[in-house]
Amino acid sequence: MLDADFFRRWMTATAASVEREAERLTALDSPIGDADHGSNLQRGFRAVTATLEKEAPDTPGAVLTLAGRQLISTVGGASGPLYGTLLRRTGKALGDTAEVGEEQLAEALRAGVDAVMTLGGAAPGDKTMIDALVPAVDALGDGFASARAAAEQGALATIPLQARKGRASYLGERSIGHQDPGATSSALLIAGLAEANGE
Ligand code: ADP
Ligand code: MG
Ligand code: MG
Repeated sequence: MLDADFFRRWMTATAASVEREAERLTALDSPIGDADHGSNLQRGFRAVTATLEKEAPDTPGAVLTLAGRQLISTVGGASGPLYGTLLRRTGKALGDTAEVGEEQLAEALRAGVDAVMTLGGAAPGDKTMIDALVPAVDALGDGFASARAAAEQGALATIPLQARKGRASYLGERSIGHQDPGATSSALLIAGLAEANGE
């Protein structure tokens, strides 16, 4: 079973990899965006870590809803409300129990990803974070390591796609040949699950 500590570790592991990869995320956002994705998420996940330390939420659902709220209020840019919605909706689906099973987490994440698709209007294949998140959720039944591999594959698979949502879509065909920054950061978020689990 996964408790509030697991979810805190998930958020801090993600925050650490965002710190490590911030320059790369911003570099990916340069040819097909406005070169701020790394700094956006760095600001957001620093706020998440600080708030989780201060407020010490004691259920999985509360950890994620608090983290989501922080992302929405600190990240200017499309990714803030989208990641914020992902975490808040996932947290809401987990309810207020002290421990959740992996199956329950997979279901809740599915609800979170659906909410991101509703908010942003992106479908798989539109070259967004959805292209990493949907395969990850699909693979979650096989464990966190499978979900991580699926998310990484999904991020790489955005390279030949033409963007249909977000800033990159303004480039039309010129968005082809570049890896989507949001799909790349989504793979970091999913990798954080495996790390929180000691994998
Ligand atoms: P901005 O584009 O506002 O500067 P970021 O650079 O932080 O925001 O985030 C860009 C990423 O957000 C993109 O790489 C893409 O993955 C994701 N994104 C943008 N618009 C959407 C959308 N409508 N649905 C899903 N993801 C989106
Ligand atoms: Mg940007
Ligand atoms: Mg921006």
